[in-house]
Amino acid sequence: MSNNIVVAIDGYSSCGKSTLAKALAKKLHFIYVDSGAMYRAVTLYLIRKNIDVKDEEAVKAVLADIHLNFHARDYQTHILLNDEEVSDEIRLMPVSENVSAVAALRSVRHEMVKQQQRMGRSKNIVMDGRDIGTTVFPNAQVKLFMTADPKVRAERRFKELQPTHPEITLEEVFENIAHRDFLDTTRKESPLVRADDAIILDNTNLTPEQQLDFALTKLEPFLKAQDR
Ligand code: C5P
Repeated sequence: MSNNIVVAIDGYSSCGKSTLAKALAKKLHFIYVDSGAMYRAVTLYLIRKNIDVKDEEAVKAVLADIHLNFHARDYQTHILLNDEEVSDEIRLMPVSENVSAVAALRSVRHEMVKQQQRMGRSKNIVMDGRDIGTTVFPNAQVKLFMTADPKVRAERRFKELQPTHPEITLEEVFENIAHRDFLDTTRKESPLVRADDAIILDNTNLTPEQQLDFALTKLEPFLKAQDR
């Protein structure tokens, strides 16, 4: 039996899941997988092909044409959609506005979860998303459920987008986050909920270093056991 460690990080939109996941992976030399990037890349494909993101049959018909791969270079997300790196384009508003509708489709979730589970089969991994601790890796050794004040979340994401996309307003970012939270928590297929055994991490008033320390403390016993 493989004794690899899986860290599952779930939570609301833009509350620093990927910042924590990347920092943890870098510190511990774990593989980092941004599961949201997979839903975003599928969404980008559908937009480019003019496929209605709510039409499950139409989406299902093209799923086999969508090949996703991660490039593990520097603990950042480098996602390839049919061999093209789309890591920047998937963060833009057209994708953000449609991704939660795509992520609500059963066939899309089924395929993504299958691919995600394959990635965590034998390696130490940190994966962030919405259903990692509940559906993808229900046996993960450490599960964190992250949350933060919605205003603080919108401001953080706005600051990230501002340098490259000055046209985006804070209101737009706030609305998008609130809308995605609503869709993600109310959808039928594995909605965003805290797993019973997930530890809540509210980072409204925490620095990235403080949240990393918090997570490392929770992981310590598992790292020690693996060393033995
Ligand atoms: O993590 P990120 O905000 O980039 O995810 C984009 C969207 O993808 C989320 O709003 C959610 O609708 C969907 N998602 C999901 N399950 C995951 C990861 C992301 O439904 N595991």
